[in-house]
Amino acid sequence: MRRPIVAGNWKMNKTVAEAVDFVRSIRHGLSEVRGVDRVLCPPLTALAPVRELLLPTSILLGAQNMHWEEKGAYTGEVSPGMVKEVCQVVILGHSERRAYFGETDAMVNRKVVAALRHGLLPIVCVGETEAQYDAGQTAEVVGGQVRGCLAGLSAEQAAGLVIAYEPVWAIGTGKAATAGGAGAVIGLTIRGTIAELYDEATAQSVRVQYGGSATPANIAEFMAHPDIDGALVGGASLKPDFVELVRSAAAAKGIA
Ligand code: PEP
Repeated sequence: MRRPIVAGNWKMNKTVAEAVDFVRSIRHGLSEVRGVDRVLCPPLTALAPVRELLLPTSILLGAQNMHWEEKGAYTGEVSPGMVKEVCQVVILGHSERRAYFGETDAMVNRKVVAALRHGLLPIVCVGETEAQYDAGQTAEVVGGQVRGCLAGLSAEQAAGLVIAYEPVWAIGTGKAATAGGAGAVIGLTIRGTIAELYDEATAQSVRVQYGGSATPANIAEFMAHPDIDGALVGGASLKPDFVELVRSAAAAKGIA
């Protein structure tokens, strides 16, 4: 059975003081939810102080991005080794990085390889835009992203990944996908592509999250789908009821 994983992507929100206050207010509640990996992904400036607060807990810390190079003249970037000093997880290829910062599948692939080399757990984001969805290109786009981002990985490396299926049209819009729709893309396209690249066992090992306007109210529906193993949560991870969302995700998978 795949262990569920729910991650909160704070994006460019919360100062250090706000991050510390918020984590203090939710860490006890989050700690009580067992059987689910819980990940907080604050902005870079808040990683170290949040790490101190999470040390006595089993809550994981994630970065929202990183470079693939080890070090050097890359102003503004952070290396995998630097991320590994404070985090266990890293989000890679988020659609906002692709749209605003020109990230391609080839770049995401280099980041995935670098993350694995450093023992970081990558959350690899894929998803179609609204125009691609309307044009019926979801399977082609998402399948291509999976192939591009996983290029050159062994079956064992692929099996350990977390993939986040985030339809771009559902991110921050309040217009979530349906559980059936997202589950079908995850089951047929994402696991299907991984089965073609490797084998069925690898496809069944990869944990796949849904992301896009997930809330405490709709999370149970997504988690009830057998192909959905968790969620990557933006807006709803900034509020105290993120704890409620994680509780509800666990309950939907039959974890008390
Ligand atoms: C995200 O940024 O990954 C995301 C899913 O955002 P939201 O939950 O706000 O749609």
